[in-house]
Amino acid sequence: MLEKPWQKNLLDIEPYVAGEQPKTDDIIKLNANENPYPPSPKVHEVLADFEFGDLKKYPSIDATPLREAVAKYYGLKKENVFTGNGSDDILATAFRAFFNSDKPIVYPDVTYSFYPVWCKLLKIPSKVYAVDENFRINVRDYYEPNGGVVIPNPNAPTSIGESRDFIIDLLEHNKDSIVIIDEAYADFGGYSAVELLGKYDNLVVTQTFSKSRSLAGMRVGIALASEYLISYMDAVKDSYNSYPLDSVAIKTAIASLDDDEYFKQTVGKVVKTRKRVTEALRSLEFKVADSSTNFLFATHPDHKATDIFEYLKSKKIYIRYFNKPRIDNYLRITIGTDDEMDAFLSAIKEYLSK
Ligand code: PMP
Repeated sequence: MLEKPWQKNLLDIEPYVAGEQPKTDDIIKLNANENPYPPSPKVHEVLADFEFGDLKKYPSIDATPLREAVAKYYGLKKENVFTGNGSDDILATAFRAFFNSDKPIVYPDVTYSFYPVWCKLLKIPSKVYAVDENFRINVRDYYEPNGGVVIPNPNAPTSIGESRDFIIDLLEHNKDSIVIIDEAYADFGGYSAVELLGKYDNLVVTQTFSKSRSLAGMRVGIALASEYLISYMDAVKDSYNSYPLDSVAIKTAIASLDDDEYFKQTVGKVVKTRKRVTEALRSLEFKVADSSTNFLFATHPDHKATDIFEYLKSKKIYIRYFNKPRIDNYLRITIGTDDEMDAFLSAIKEYLSK
């Protein structure tokens, strides 16, 4: 077919692909790192009491009540907090605001696969540094001059967290760049760099309410940084979408922050189940990384990851497989409830005994 002139103007992009969403209710879904437990009962109360007539009005333009609640939670100022429509929105905003150098931004070769997508979309030059054979990030690679750094800690999909010393080393050697630490999974036992914000004015920490706070459906993310950097994120937000957070999201996110006991309880349950499933998989000869997240990254020496993935799918258990260099024989398994993980382990045993 002949190409029409306007077709040359279409955006040439390969989008990020999220975990498959099941079409029926009988699927055990362990493929998107969602929390298996519901949000805090306080979130439920807020939803039940929500004044429906309020929806006729726009929400707070910068989600002020939520920024204040987050600031209080972390002992920061409201001016150190940015809020958005999930941490994907936060990260995209940060990439736009902070990665405008001619030098490439840098990140690990095995990492969150949205980073290269944003680089392509926003025309940001980028360079990857290979993680080692155990999927550890070599901080020395990041001593080279660059146009910015973005690293998830813990990393995804490897599940491996790096230490406080690693993050300080990274920051000490990148004082000329903005360093984004994507802490989507830090609540499950990783080190959080929030305590370093007062010391490094080039540090940006991003977090999400989707995982540890069971609010993936509400789409709430935050960035924490110096007041100066937050003002640049606000400028980007106000240049493309004034109200990324709706009124319901603002209220429910505050309610979630308000129930620290429930938060710690559910995170604790996930961590406990993670330990049990890690041990069970290792006893079945899987190689499983030490996870600081709500998912496991595993491979089996004698069975192809795709075969296991397809078998589980046929048993209505969805996990995640990435057809990508270096990790194409690995599986990423979200930690579900104990019952879900028992069903997962039974199916794995069934597969291995075939
Ligand atoms: N960062 C990482 C490393 C992730 O895995 C995810 C989840 N896909 C996100 C950020 C974004 O999550 P959300 O937009 O739900 O906050």
